[in-house]
Amino acid sequence: MNENLITVKHVKGSHSMRLKIGKNGEPILTLPYWIPKKMGLLWANKQREWIQKNTFKPTRFQEGQKILFLGQEIIIQHTEKRLQTHILDGILWVGGEKSFLPRRVADFIKKEFLIYLRKKVLEKEKILNVKHTRLTLRDTSSRWGSCSSSGALSFCWRLAMTPEFVIDYLIAHEIAHLKHMNHSPVFWKTVIELTPYSYQAKKWLKENAHQIPILK
Ligand SMILES: [Zn+2]
Repeated sequence: MNENLITVKHVKGSHSMRLKIGKNGEPILTLPYWIPKKMGLLWANKQREWIQKNTFKPTRFQEGQKILFLGQEIIIQHTEKRLQTHILDGILWVGGEKSFLPRRVADFIKKEFLIYLRKKVLEKEKILNVKHTRLTLRDTSSRWGSCSSSGALSFCWRLAMTPEFVIDYLIAHEIAHLKHMNHSPVFWKTVIELTPYSYQAKKWLKENAHQIPILK
C-alpha cells in the first residue's frame, strides 16, 4: 500500500487512532495529538485489508448504468427528447442534453427519496407517538442518518440506492432517537420495536456501503 494515499489528520479531543473513508472514497487516518504521523501510518498499514475493501472511486451516473433505487433495479436511459425524468418499466428516462444526465439522475433520486422518506417516517412515528421537526437530505459519506436534539432528521440521499430493509433500519434508528438521544439498551430495544432488520442492515452496510455510487 502506498502510504501517500492515506490522508492523515491530527484531531483535537481524539483518544485513539481511527481509519475512515472520505467523501471521495479515500482512506483517512485520524490521530490523537500525541501519536506521531509515522506511528499512525505503521498501524494503518496493518489495516490494509479493510482499506482495500472500503476505499472507492467516485463515479458519475451514466447511460446504461444499473442502479438499485428504492428496492427496484433500474437502468439509466438517455433520450434527446425533453421530458421529465421518470421511471417506466424498469427504465429511468432522462431527457435533454447528455452532459446534464448525472445531475438529473441525482436530482430525481433526491426528489423521489424525500417523498418516500416522509411517508415511512410518519408510519414509524405513529408507533412511538413522536414527531420530528424537520426532514432533510444530505450528501454525507460517513453518516447515513442523524437526529438532532431539536428533532431534526436528516438522511444521506445515497441511501436511496440501498435495499429497502437497509432504509427501513436507518429510519427506525433515527426515529428511535426522537425518544432516546443515546445508544443505550433501551434505545436499541426501541429500534427493535420499529424494524426487524437491524442485524441484516448493519451487516449489509458494512459489506456493501463502499459500492454505492456517489456523484462527482
Ligand atoms: Zn444513532
